Amino acid sequence: MDRRRFVQAAGLGFAGAAVSPARAVGRGAGAASGAAASATLADSATGAGRSDVRVRLSPPFDPWLEIDAAALRANVGHVSRLTDSRPIMAVVKNNAYGLGLVETAGVLEPLDQIAGFAVVKPSAALRLRDAGIRKPVLLMGLAEAEEAEALVRRQVELSFYDDGAPQRMTRLARRLQAPVRGHVYLDTGMGRMGIAYHRALPWLRILAATDAVDVAGTFMAFTEETEFDREQFLRFRTYADSVENIGLPLGRLHAASSNGVYHLPYAHLDMVRPGIALYGAYPSRPDEERAIQALTPAVRLCARVVRVERLRTGDGVSYGRNYVATEPTWTATLPVGHTDGYPRSAVEGARVLIGERLYPVIGAVSASHSIVEVGPEPTVAVGDKAVLMGSDHAALEPNRVAEATGASVYDLLMHLSPALPRTVV
Ligand SMILES: *Cc1c(COP(=O)(O)O)cnc(C)c1O
Repeated sequence: MDRRRFVQAAGLGFAGAAVSPARAVGRGAGAASGAAASATLADSATGAGRSDVRVRLSPPFDPWLEIDAAALRANVGHVSRLTDSRPIMAVVKNNAYGLGLVETAGVLEPLDQIAGFAVVKPSAALRLRDAGIRKPVLLMGLAEAEEAEALVRRQVELSFYDDGAPQRMTRLARRLQAPVRGHVYLDTGMGRMGIAYHRALPWLRILAATDAVDVAGTFMAFTEETEFDREQFLRFRTYADSVENIGLPLGRLHAASSNGVYHLPYAHLDMVRPGIALYGAYPSRPDEERAIQALTPAVRLCARVVRVERLRTGDGVSYGRNYVATEPTWTATLPVGHTDGYPRSAVEGARVLIGERLYPVIGAVSASHSIVEVGPEPTVAVGDKAVLMGSDHAALEPNRVAEATGASVYDLLMHLSPALPRTVV
């Protein structure tokens, strides 16, 4: 974008907001920026209208996320090819791995390959329905009785795995005058959720005998420990065969997360259940997985430069002063910090794209600010768009940012603040 035009536009935005007549009265007509600043203070003091604030900050410097719909669709296509066109239950837990639950599900829902969605928290399941998502939604967590009723009334499928399920489902089915639809969650060695595989069969007999459930599926989660995954799968298979032999219901079998999509073709079964791969990040061994099937990062973390300043030799940067200029250099400040989800450890090697160039993060990432080293020439200006993560450069891929910061790519994505504005592009 033309830098001068942007600065002008920003200037107009601020000046325009400052003449909000009601607020200008009694404050005197200072310089436009001064009036805007006092209006901002007045707003926060009086809790004045939000739309006002949005006008004043347009176009924003504050960080935002761009959700790349084409990338999401492409990744669905890749997962589909890797799994011989298995139906995909998209895992959208934890705010769709930071991308935004509603935004992401809205893009995925119309795709034929998407069979439904999986979440862990009841509130997320309800938000999907509130947003108009109509495909099946599976709750992989536990819902308390009243919650469970609300979920089932809105066609959310439950996970069956606890010893109390036969009783609770009987009560619920009676209230609803219909069997409760859900999936049996089998613990084959993960030791986290599900009914332990070695005592699942007698439990299922009791559950099935209630006639209170409609078993739409049976599923498990791998530990993603290469050797043990095979053992887990054997346990799953053995359970499924026994259930089939005695004529009890199994529904669709599903087990593979993104790691399984890439590495465990034997576990693709009736449906796959990936999360992170859909969002364009590799689950386990990025180099190997990129070579098998490259993905496109579907989220872009952006902000605009709010300060450009020249350091003299000996000048330092941020808390702790762990960066001190050894020669004169320019720096740029971005209004994005660790409360937005940009990791503190970004100073250990992450870079930021501004214009055509990458700039290293220096000093310290504080709550709301990060600083990049620009170099001997001021090649960056206030208002420039900066991309901290995204598909725009290999160094900005989530896996590469994670590597550079020593973080897990899961943490990196899922810690993106839910408060960041998100736009689907
Ligand atoms: C999170 C999760 C998934 C998806 O895992 P990814 O590694 O993101 O593909 C699948 N199944 C269960 C039970 C999960 O908790």
